[in-house]
Amino acid sequence: MLAVALESVVIAQYGPQTNLLPLDSLRSIRPEAIRAHLEFLADDALEGRATGSRGYDVAAKYVRAQFASLGLKSGVRDGSYFQSVALRRTEVDPLASSLAIESGGRKNKLAYNKDYIVLDTHAHTTGSVSAPVVFAGYGVTAPDFHYDDYSGIDVKGKIVVSIGFAAPASFPATERAYYMDGDVKQQIARDHGAVGMILISTPENELRFKWTDVLREVKVGYNSMRWIESPDRTYGIVDGIGACALLNRSGSETRFAGESPTLAEVFSEAKGGGKTRSFALHKTVSVRYKARHTPVSSPNVVGVLPGSDPELRREYVVFTAHVDHLGIGPAVDGDNIYNGALDNAAGTAVMLEVARWFAAQPVAPKRSVAFVALTGEEEFLLGSAAFANQSPLDGPIVANINVDGGATTVPVRDVVAFGEEHSTLGPVARQAASVLHMELSSDPMPEEGGFIRSDQYSFVRTGVPALQLDLGFKSDQPGVDPLAVTKKWMVTICHSPKDDASQSIHYESSARFARYAALITFSTANDPRRPEWNEGDFFGKRFAKR
Ligand SMILES: [Zn+2]
Repeated sequence: MLAVALESVVIAQYGPQTNLLPLDSLRSIRPEAIRAHLEFLADDALEGRATGSRGYDVAAKYVRAQFASLGLKSGVRDGSYFQSVALRRTEVDPLASSLAIESGGRKNKLAYNKDYIVLDTHAHTTGSVSAPVVFAGYGVTAPDFHYDDYSGIDVKGKIVVSIGFAAPASFPATERAYYMDGDVKQQIARDHGAVGMILISTPENELRFKWTDVLREVKVGYNSMRWIESPDRTYGIVDGIGACALLNRSGSETRFAGESPTLAEVFSEAKGGGKTRSFALHKTVSVRYKARHTPVSSPNVVGVLPGSDPELRREYVVFTAHVDHLGIGPAVDGDNIYNGALDNAAGTAVMLEVARWFAAQPVAPKRSVAFVALTGEEEFLLGSAAFANQSPLDGPIVANINVDGGATTVPVRDVVAFGEEHSTLGPVARQAASVLHMELSSDPMPEEGGFIRSDQYSFVRTGVPALQLDLGFKSDQPGVDPLAVTKKWMVTICHSPKDDASQSIHYESSARFARYAALITFSTANDPRRPEWNEGDFFGKRFAKR
């Protein structure tokens, strides 16, 4: 049925005699163009494009110049292409912050940075909480899956300890990702009456997120900002949680010392995403922090290709890629510029080449397409939150196609569309793959929580069906294992100064990927039917506006 739908989309647009025109013209998407954009955006001259930095502003102005030269209209009413996003940076003062664990009259003070750090200090410059602690597994209450880490425990007025950035492996990948989200864990804890939250890391997670890397990323500013939704509202902060801390292994050991079950027993139950027991700990914890807040402003860049249908043109398909990366930070092997070549100069480069292709088509698709270069992704999806919640466009957003990546160092023949199982965008993604003779693979690393870790999730949270597209993990070349290469890349290069343009990027794979992204976007924008969540869908139920 969908084969017919796509054909008819193409035929309706170009007439039967030229029904392959868009497919043929997709070949005009060139690897050299992607390379040129990527090499500029990932150049040391742009200093790693940190949100709010001069380097980011240069990148944003480059994207705006490209949009304008392609003939895309400003998606912002004042004609500037820039949607300015109000952010707040928070820096914790370690000397004025403390975390103490008390049991049997003995007080153990943990050391900031060595044993713990405080998270989410964006709403208030000071915070404190002192209460008994309860361990609540992953901190998940999920009625859809008849799963509850809070059954049999009482956390009212208490501090919940739970395993950070993890959720039961028995859940499907995207739902598991939803429950990995620290904001969701805090909201669930709050709903159960908790007043504070402490996250610990499993040995498995410690391998992927080493404590030294966590500290380095905090130093470079990772997750140090939040979007100021309105003068009195900081986006994503859970009211009523007095403080939230993340413990290193040393901190967790102090926390669990003398408890039963032991920390080792908890970790062994949690191995591979298994369910753990929940139980009260025989300790009281006091957390206190002081933070400094600084206002930051940084733009999203919005270019619009108006649709060709007099009715449908007021609806928008939004194509996004984040431009920001981590900026300048602690040196690794003598290099202190975090260039973010694959993350996400690559995705931005793909978006620019896709936008060029769209602008070159003889007839635009029925709906308008907005190309949006986003700020603040590395700070936890902030530019996209601002765009999705306070869109500057003059009509509704009906779908989001996001690219975070789209480049790799080895040839890849397949693609992944995170979120395809949730909406009618899934069949479009499958059909586009088959038309282009690519394989659509499912998420091979569900423990990474990919679906909530890039900007499409901001759109999902406002009820908009969305996909995150990326290159897959299969290769035709004998002896090449892209999955192994990616897994290694994620722990050795990702979010370090080594993610620069000197990597041997396989631009032909990126061009094929860009053709795929262009075709999905074109089909979605041209289909008279508006994208919809699947019947009874987990995300549709939670977020769709009715
Ligand atoms: Zn990214």
